[in-house]
Amino acid sequence: MSESHPDEAPALQLVDVRKYFDNGEVKALDGVNLTVPRGEFLAVTGPSGGGKSTMLHLIAALDRPTSGTVCVGGFDIAHIKDPAAYRREQIGLVFQLHNLLPQLTAAQNVEIAMFGTGLSRTQRRQRALGLLADVDLAGREKRPPTKLSGGERQRVAIARALANEPTLMLADEPTGSLDEHSVDRILALFARLRDERSDLTMVVVTHDKRLAAAADRVVQLRDGRIEQSATRSR
Ligand code: ADP
Repeated sequence: MSESHPDEAPALQLVDVRKYFDNGEVKALDGVNLTVPRGEFLAVTGPSGGGKSTMLHLIAALDRPTSGTVCVGGFDIAHIKDPAAYRREQIGLVFQLHNLLPQLTAAQNVEIAMFGTGLSRTQRRQRALGLLADVDLAGREKRPPTKLSGGERQRVAIARALANEPTLMLADEPTGSLDEHSVDRILALFARLRDERSDLTMVVVTHDKRLAAAADRVVQLRDGRIEQSATRSR
């Protein structure tokens, strides 16, 4: 991969990325090439088993590709020494498997994302409250996840993902299993993030046609390959 100045490099670039499981019997990703410019809101769709979650896991350095390169901000993440720090500092994750901690309040769930960042307790608290207000959860800060609706929990997860000002937000089915009203609010939130945070790049796996329609571009992953790419004007 050519060396480029970090400011000019795309937010994300996958070059011939393959991920095989079971000694190559399962080709979860089978030669994916994808360039995501800074600030793009990319929706990834496609049938179940197409490789969407696998792709997000590789970008988040939760797993390594069998071959190919994943570059974030021009840097090949295979060279990352501390994947947890990379995720904490550069990536905002909204994953089903990264659930909220049930024994903590909404605010505390956002605050813990900022541990180890050098912010004081007061700063972490203030920032968490601001982020929760941004996702329209002012007044719900002290509730534990069990006393929030599914849509509210998802918005706490989004607030937490934004806590450390990531350059890249990765979301896996952020509207999955939500009622229609909650879906509307999540849709509005993504549309707002897209318009207001021009530096934030978002890669969102979704089956929701309306969420995909709000994206700048939609790619489809099928049998581990990118099948089609549709772009809409901003
Ligand atoms: P999607 O998110 O599009 O539903 P996945 O990325 O979860 O697709 O899965 C792609 C393919 O890889 C599927 O055939 C799945 O069964 C397989 N797969 C995913 N993870 C593993 C694993 N850890 N071991 C073996 N096969 C896997």
